[in-house]
Amino acid sequence: MAAAAAEGQEVPNKRVILKRYVTGHLTEDDMEVVTGAARLAVPPGSAAVVLKNLYVSCDPYMRGRMTKHETPSYVPDFVPGEVLVNFGVSKVVASGHPDFKVGDLVWGITGWEEYTLIPNPESLFKINHPELPLSYYTGVLGMTGLAAWAGFFDVGKPKKGDYVFVSAASGAVGQIVGQLAKLKGCYVVGSAGSDEKVNLLKTKFGFDDAFNYKEAQDLNAALKRCFPEGIDIYFENVGGPTLDAVLLNMRSHGRIPACGMISQYNREQPEGMRNLSSVVAKRLRIEGFMVSDYIGEYRRFEEEMVGYLKEGKVSYVEDVAEGLEKAPAALIGLYSGRNVGKQVVAVARE
Ligand code: NAP
Repeated sequence: MAAAAAEGQEVPNKRVILKRYVTGHLTEDDMEVVTGAARLAVPPGSAAVVLKNLYVSCDPYMRGRMTKHETPSYVPDFVPGEVLVNFGVSKVVASGHPDFKVGDLVWGITGWEEYTLIPNPESLFKINHPELPLSYYTGVLGMTGLAAWAGFFDVGKPKKGDYVFVSAASGAVGQIVGQLAKLKGCYVVGSAGSDEKVNLLKTKFGFDDAFNYKEAQDLNAALKRCFPEGIDIYFENVGGPTLDAVLLNMRSHGRIPACGMISQYNREQPEGMRNLSSVVAKRLRIEGFMVSDYIGEYRRFEEEMVGYLKEGKVSYVEDVAEGLEKAPAALIGLYSGRNVGKQVVAVARE
């Protein structure tokens, strides 16, 4: 590790690359940890920065970028042989940009590697609250938290007393949605894939109720038991059979902010839905959203969430894998629920 590496020096650079385009289930063999070299200097006259990466985030949507798309997706496909990129927390170690100086802590899109050259650093955010754990900026204070906040409030349009259901509820987004819903005065139930996670939902995150969907023989019956009067807001993280069962349990004029559908990401053929006609009869609104649409709201969100964290109104659980070597397994773990809380990879210490 290059803790004492000086500006201008060439240093080894461990990186995680995509080996090949992926079809079906992602495996560790689809990625490779290799060592290259990085120069801790920016090209002369450029406004680039070089980042030393401290944490990188594992996010479900990365799987979609590993498939070659015939028509362009909402984010570019990864390229075999090239480093994976995603959100991370980093320290500036060289800069040609007047707004960034060596030592600044930032978060934004970076490489799954020890050092990354960012040609256009304007997209990076300075870290305003380094008194909180820096890794929070890959999650509750980063894109994950913004997705939960924007999806729940702007798309879900909650009212006090609403009945709210959250899937993948102990995960990165779900745990925050559930707690925001409680702060709003809603009745909140979550589903998760293990008894340990269900316990976490009820004790640490203050959900009113929770169930283990992997053990529910009948999802429709499980939802009816938890919501005898029906669901006003379903915060959709998983899709597939869960969404199908939820449709039968929505109340009239219910809202479904569609954040993601992780159950479908490794499938070569998506699963079909049987209960879509409920959308008509119940006047439901299913609305997808992308966190990138809310970047302009980030600073307002950040201050609100920092307040909740400092006042103890929102708790946050992370699952930290130590070292880039563990990154491929950590990413794959998202699709089977191995992560408990937000999955992060610690790349280096400050
Ligand atoms: P996460 O919940 O921390 O991790 C994924 C979780 O999904 C796993 O831990 C697992 O939990 C659950 N899961 C995996 N396979 C499943 C299946 N077949 N059926 C049901 N649950 C399954 O991930 P996250 O970062 O918070 O993301 C949650 C969702 O939000 C994803 O769909 C993601 O793509 C989406 N997202 C969207 C945006 C946006 O801008 N729209 C932004 C961020 C995230 P269990 O143990 O409970 O099964």
